[in-house]
Amino acid sequence: MSGSLSTAVNKPVDGLFDDAAEKAAVGLWTRAIERLKARLSRHTFQTYFEPIKPVSLYAGELTLAHSSKFMIDWVRDNLLDVLLQDLEAQHGARCTVKFVVRERPGTETEGEAPSPAQQQRTEITANVATTSPGIPVRPPTLNTKYTFDSFVVGPSNQFAVAACTAVANAPGKAYNPLFLYGGVGLGKTHLVHAVGNHALKANPNCHVLYLSSEAFTNDLIHALEQHKMPEFRARYREKCDILLLDDIQFLGNKKQTMEEFFHTFNALHEAGKQIFVTSDKLPNEIEGFEERLRSRFQWGLIADIQPPEVETRVAILKKKAATDNIHLPDDVALFLGSHIRSNVRELEGSLIRLAAFASLTKSSITVDLAKDVLKTVLVVRGDKPDVEQIIRLAGEQMQVRPQDIKGERRQQGIARARQVAMYLTRRITGLSYPAIGEKFGGKDHSTVINAEQRIEQLMREDPELRATVESLLRRLNG
Ligand code: ADP
Ligand code: MG
Repeated sequence: MSGSLSTAVNKPVDGLFDDAAEKAAVGLWTRAIERLKARLSRHTFQTYFEPIKPVSLYAGELTLAHSSKFMIDWVRDNLLDVLLQDLEAQHGARCTVKFVVRERPGTETEGEAPSPAQQQRTEITANVATTSPGIPVRPPTLNTKYTFDSFVVGPSNQFAVAACTAVANAPGKAYNPLFLYGGVGLGKTHLVHAVGNHALKANPNCHVLYLSSEAFTNDLIHALEQHKMPEFRARYREKCDILLLDDIQFLGNKKQTMEEFFHTFNALHEAGKQIFVTSDKLPNEIEGFEERLRSRFQWGLIADIQPPEVETRVAILKKKAATDNIHLPDDVALFLGSHIRSNVRELEGSLIRLAAFASLTKSSITVDLAKDVLKTVLVVRGDKPDVEQIIRLAGEQMQVRPQDIKGERRQQGIARARQVAMYLTRRITGLSYPAIGEKFGGKDHSTVINAEQRIEQLMREDPELRATVESLLRRLNG
């Protein structure tokens, strides 16, 4: 990777550095997302793009900050390559993106100016401050977007929705406790909020407490440290009519938190207050989950939520598109709905990715565009070799072990085989650079870009390497 962007600051000059680098970053980023803003709905834009803050631009590395690690991962997986393409097209030079997690301006976890050595790396910093133990938690408020109205009902979730509706209409009376379980991204959190929103609408004086089990744990730790257990108990046992505890599987093996939750549970249940928890596992599948808690959940109703069928997936896509003002033709909705089967979050992600891509390239949303943009997430049916096969075959031919290809060693023979395998993966699977990096033992996307360029160059200069690569390509393509 070479060439810094024209607007980039080339040399850190003490105090000057921050200002100039920030200005450059803001300029580049603003221009990059301007077109998106014009094309995407306000809601989509505000959810996905506005919270991203440009921090600095130095030698082709743009540092962006976001308050949520989750959203950073999402942007990296779904939008980074699309954005990079656009950034690079505008400036005629390669650039890399680094993300930092930042709670509020000026408090980033990883915020110093990037050094030239960092130039080729994209770093995703972990540790979102709100989940550190011992930090007081303000229970998050309910997301008003997550309602029963915005939830698409189908055979996979109608039982869960019926149970949730009953609980929302008669908290503490219908099913208590309600235990909702199901895989990631299937709508558990959405339904939890829907119950809270519905109950509050019916009775604005109702005390609804929503939080993740992690937040509950942190709150407890904080209360213990600060000797504020009476306040903690009052908060969860007395001033609470509906306790919504998300992702209770996190309590497994946390003895003291389970103990406290057990007493909270009993106090609420005795007082006829509603308890609604979600989990990605059944009570008896949660490792280290106490028997007495398990049996408590048998008192109420255990409802499951399954992955949606294709009709429901298409209906969800259409609803999201309508809410977000995305023009989604029927054939594209059907195409996405039949190919993206993992979960609803992926489904939403691909719709936003498609809309962003269409708007950046000023094209309309068609099945062909969808195929092109969604290569990374589409379930490839059968015929293409996967990354593991490519690594194995390239390793065989170039006499390097697969684990070395995925490893860190930089010895020339190994490095070359790694570059060849990355190049082949890109050609054959069309996966995004970050996705390929991930498959090669967690390498940065810029490493993959470099590998591709290097092999392209070597294929022009070195007939032997060219023959090797071409033979591999033929074998892999059958
Ligand atoms: P979980 O908590 O089970 O991991 P979420 O509730 O966070 O999943 O759902 C992921 C995303 O998918 C959310 O944006 C949610 O609104 C959406 N979603 C899931 N199921 C549906 C559905 N049936 N109708 C509409 N949106 C859905
Ligand atoms: Mg959830």
